Amino acid sequence: MPAVALQGVVILKQDGNLVTYKEKCDSCGHVSPGERKTSIEGWGTYTSAFRCFKCGNNQKVEIRAE
Ligand SMILES: [Zn+2]
Repeated sequence: MPAVALQGVVILKQDGNLVTYKEKCDSCGHVSPGERKTSIEGWGTYTSAFRCFKCGNNQKVEIRAE
């Protein structure tokens, strides 16, 4: 099941159900330097959130498993 970035995220790679991504602020375009990993197994849509330290935007993270 390929992972699709819906918002607030740049997908770097996918290995099976394990998705490696970076948080991206859709307001100012800033991409966080740290990589994050999540398993999309069993998820319709993975959701998370973070606060952009550059512009203060509260950005939702959504990754959909298709
Ligand atoms: Zn921002």
